[in-house]
Amino acid sequence: MAVYLDWNASALVRPEAATAVAEALRAGGNPSSVHAAGRAARAVVERARADVGALVGVAPSAVTFTSGGTEADALAIESAVVAGARRIIVGATEHEAVVETAKAAGLAIEEWPVDKEGRADLDWLAQRLAAGPWAIVCLMLANNETGVIQPVAAASELVRAADGWLHVDAVQAVGKVSIDFNGLGADTMALSAHKLGGPQGVGALIAGSRARLTRRIHGGGQERGLRSGTENVAGIAGFAAAARLADPEAISAQAAWRDEFGARIKAAGGAVLGEGAPRLPQTLCLAAPGYPSELQVIGLDLAGVMVSAGAACSSGKVKASRIAEAMGHPDLAPCVVRVSGGWATTEDDWRRCGDAWTTLYDRHRARRATAAA
Ligand code: PLP
Repeated sequence: MAVYLDWNASALVRPEAATAVAEALRAGGNPSSVHAAGRAARAVVERARADVGALVGVAPSAVTFTSGGTEADALAIESAVVAGARRIIVGATEHEAVVETAKAAGLAIEEWPVDKEGRADLDWLAQRLAAGPWAIVCLMLANNETGVIQPVAAASELVRAADGWLHVDAVQAVGKVSIDFNGLGADTMALSAHKLGGPQGVGALIAGSRARLTRRIHGGGQERGLRSGTENVAGIAGFAAAARLADPEAISAQAAWRDEFGARIKAAGGAVLGEGAPRLPQTLCLAAPGYPSELQVIGLDLAGVMVSAGAACSSGKVKASRIAEAMGHPDLAPCVVRVSGGWATTEDDWRRCGDAWTTLYDRHRARRATAAA
C-alpha cells in the first residue's frame, strides 16, 4: 500500500466528514429559504458555526464561512485596508495567500524577517511598529513547509500596544495543535477545512471584537452581509465534522516518529529545517544537499511514498523553496522536501518513508561519486 505523507497539502478526508457532506447533499435545501428544508439547512450551517468556533475557543458569532483559507486571508487583509491600515507587515515565510493579497492591496509592504530556524524576529517588529503609521501585521501560526510555530501571543502584545491589527493564518496549525483564539490575542484568524480532514473549498475567518470586517462579495447578504452567495452547506457540514474530531493530542505522537526520520536524514548528510524552533508535530522539512527536490519527490513516488517539494506551485512545477531562502539557507532551497502526516498516519508510514528516502539518497550520492571519479 502506498504511503501518503503530504497532509499539509491536503489531509485525507475523515470518513465522518465525507458522510456529513453526503448527508447534507442528500438533504438539500437553501439555508435562506423559510420552508422546512431551508430551515434544516440553516440548522446545519449554524451547528457547524458553533463546532468550528469551539475548535478555536470562540462563540459562533465570531465565525464567517469562506471558500477556504485563501479567501479567509483575503477577507481579513482587505478589511484591514478598508478600516484604515496604511501599511502591511508580512512575515517572510507567510503563505502566498497572504503575500499575494498583501501585494494586491496597494499599500507599502514591509517584509518581517525570520531567523535561521524560521522564527519571526520580535525586536524587529517592535521597532517597525514604533516607526510608522497604523499597520496590519500578518503572522502565520505554523508554517506550511517547515511546521515552525511562530510566537503569535508575543507578537499580539506588540501589535495591540501599537493599536494595529494582527492577522494570523492558522490554516496549517488548526487540528494539529490546540488553539485558543482569545489567548493568542489575534484580531483575525484564517482556517481551512481540507488541512484537518474536511473537504476542500471551505474555510472560515475568525474575527475578534476589535476587527471590523468589510464585505468583499456583494449579493444576497449571506454570512451577515460579509460574504454573499448561497452557503456551501455540504462543505460546511464536512468542515464541522472534521472540527469535532480534531485531536491534537493524537497527532502529537508523530513528533517522535518524525524525529527518528530526522536523525536518519542528518546521519546521511542531510539537514532538517526549523529543527531548533517549536514545530508542528507531524511536519518535517528536509534538505538533501546536491539532490534536487523534484528528483526526491519523483523517486519517493516511484517507491510508493507521496510527499511534496517544499514549494510546488499550482502548475505542479517545483521551484526553489522561498521559505528556505527566507531562513537564510539559499544553498539548501533547491533540495528541500516536505513530509507531513495527519490523523491516519502511522509509525510505519514514517519508517517506510525514512527507508525509501535513505536508500534513494545513498544511491544518488553513490552515482555522483562515480561520476566525479
Ligand atoms: N495558508 C496556508 C498556510 C496554507 O498552507 C494554505 C494552503 O496550502 C492556505 C493558506 C490556503 O488555503 P486554501 O487551500 O484553503 O485556500
